[in-house]
Amino acid sequence: MSPAAARFSSRKAMASASASLKHGLSLWCPEPPALRRAPQRSSIGLGSFRRSYAAAAFDNENREFVIVGGGNSAGYAARTFVEHGMADGRLCIVSKEAHAPYERPALTKGYLFPLDKKPARLPGFHTCVGSGGERQTAEWYKEKGIEMLYEDPVTSIDIDKQTLTTDSGKLLKYGSLIIATGCTASRFPEKIGGNLPGVHYIRDVADANSLISSWEKAKKLVVVGGGYIGMEVAAAAVAWKLDTTIIFPENHLLQRLFTPSLAQRYEEFYKDNGVKFMKGASIKHLEAGSDGHVCSVKLEDGSMIEADAVVIGIGAKPAVGPFERVGLNSSVGGIQVDSQFRTKIPGIFAIGDVAAFPLKMYDRIARVEHVDHARRSAQHCAKSILTAQTHIYDYLPYFYSRVFEYEGSPRKLWWQFFGDNVGEAIEVGSFDPKIATFWVDSGKLKGVLLESGNPEEFQLLPKLARSQPTVDTTKLRNASSVEEALEIVQQSL
Ligand SMILES: Cc1cc2nc3c(=O)[nH]c(=O)nc-3n(C[C@H](O)[C@H](O)[C@H](O)COP(=O)(O)OP(=O)(O)OC[C@H]3O[C@@H](n4cnc5c(N)ncnc54)[C@H](O)[C@@H]3O)c2cc1C
Repeated sequence: MSPAAARFSSRKAMASASASLKHGLSLWCPEPPALRRAPQRSSIGLGSFRRSYAAAAFDNENREFVIVGGGNSAGYAARTFVEHGMADGRLCIVSKEAHAPYERPALTKGYLFPLDKKPARLPGFHTCVGSGGERQTAEWYKEKGIEMLYEDPVTSIDIDKQTLTTDSGKLLKYGSLIIATGCTASRFPEKIGGNLPGVHYIRDVADANSLISSWEKAKKLVVVGGGYIGMEVAAAAVAWKLDTTIIFPENHLLQRLFTPSLAQRYEEFYKDNGVKFMKGASIKHLEAGSDGHVCSVKLEDGSMIEADAVVIGIGAKPAVGPFERVGLNSSVGGIQVDSQFRTKIPGIFAIGDVAAFPLKMYDRIARVEHVDHARRSAQHCAKSILTAQTHIYDYLPYFYSRVFEYEGSPRKLWWQFFGDNVGEAIEVGSFDPKIATFWVDSGKLKGVLLESGNPEEFQLLPKLARSQPTVDTTKLRNASSVEEALEIVQQSL
């Protein structure tokens, strides 16, 4: 494709992304303004060795930069390599999946819309459309001279020889290596029915396609897990008019973040839309019918829930796979890195979900399984490798979810959270139309969650969580509306 054609195609991609916003298929993850594209920079002299894309065919074992994992963070890292003029003939991405990197959160949002409600499909949500960037299709990687190896996971590493071996037996020698392998969905053991036909996990496009074809025939759905995945899948199932039950062992939805009272608002909304809840429940096993397909879920208390489809959303584990010798973190899991995403092995880096990194703000080591961190860590790491940047990663935790966004839904729900959910939680608002929770510790505002805010209100949240102002808790508790509460905390900035 000529550069002019490429520009045209990228404009078309942007136009189609914004058109899809109009139809409620939004894949845009709002982000604080600091995450911006860097200006184009020229090479900074890491050697004059440059190969044309054609010359980078597989007969040459030497790769200057290799990213293992073709997911969210790999896509953003690739963009940063391109922005710094360091991709063409230098960068190779080794991916387990068949697709160029995409915005993974779409899989439990627009992707699961019923087929008559304009579901999201690739190539619509390749990175970096989720942050308003270019849609990097497989063609984009070719044009930029980035070598992509699809469906060929790395199976081993030889740290001394700086080589990787792939599933198909390819041997790649790397100069610098970025591990971006993300997580894998936690599974139920096979002996309790975790692998039965009709039992689904959702981590990639193949999983989502399998779920959709199951839903085309299903009537009764059980969702196991009351976290993000469970909430998003159950919301989509409402649009499919499935008889849906959510089962989880905790007392309320999203226990890691929501207060009991906030969770209750969401649970009521789901119930009003026909979703049933079994809280504080543990699963004994999943049962198969005479055809071998899952037919019911048996709980520890002996009760049985019929199901012809089951989705398990019980968390994820860092995909450290062949990289254990690179150095793991024993408390949060994943690969230990410093604030430039360097592992203990020179020339090897880790980013995204798999990286255990210093969370400077709260002075602890963390692993963050959220897309905002995947994007930022990728950009920070690539810049640290390619430029003289030495400043440390100073991440502000940011989580969001959006559900019931399909056409004709009773109401779109969209919340964002910034900071740390520690200390006293002060809730303001009635959920309809909006609600906010403020976490205050030792008089300081530590975290804030807002449901159904407007763009200006959402923009205020990172400022509040980052600066942690001292707030008047009595005034905040007495605020009669979310708007008034936000005004009070804004004045304390
Ligand atoms: C269904 C779903 C919904 C989500 N929704 C939200 C949301 O609403 N908000 C939010 O903030 N976050 C959300 N997330 C989390 C977010 O998607 C992740 O934080 C983000 O994708 C992490 O990026 P990553 O590059 O680290 O890992 P991933 O995007 O998971 O990419 C890792 C890639 O590495 C590949 N890989 C693994 N091992 C190997 C190997 N040995 N060799 C080669 N390739 C390998 C994997 O197949 C995968 O393609 C969601 C995640 C899922 C699964």
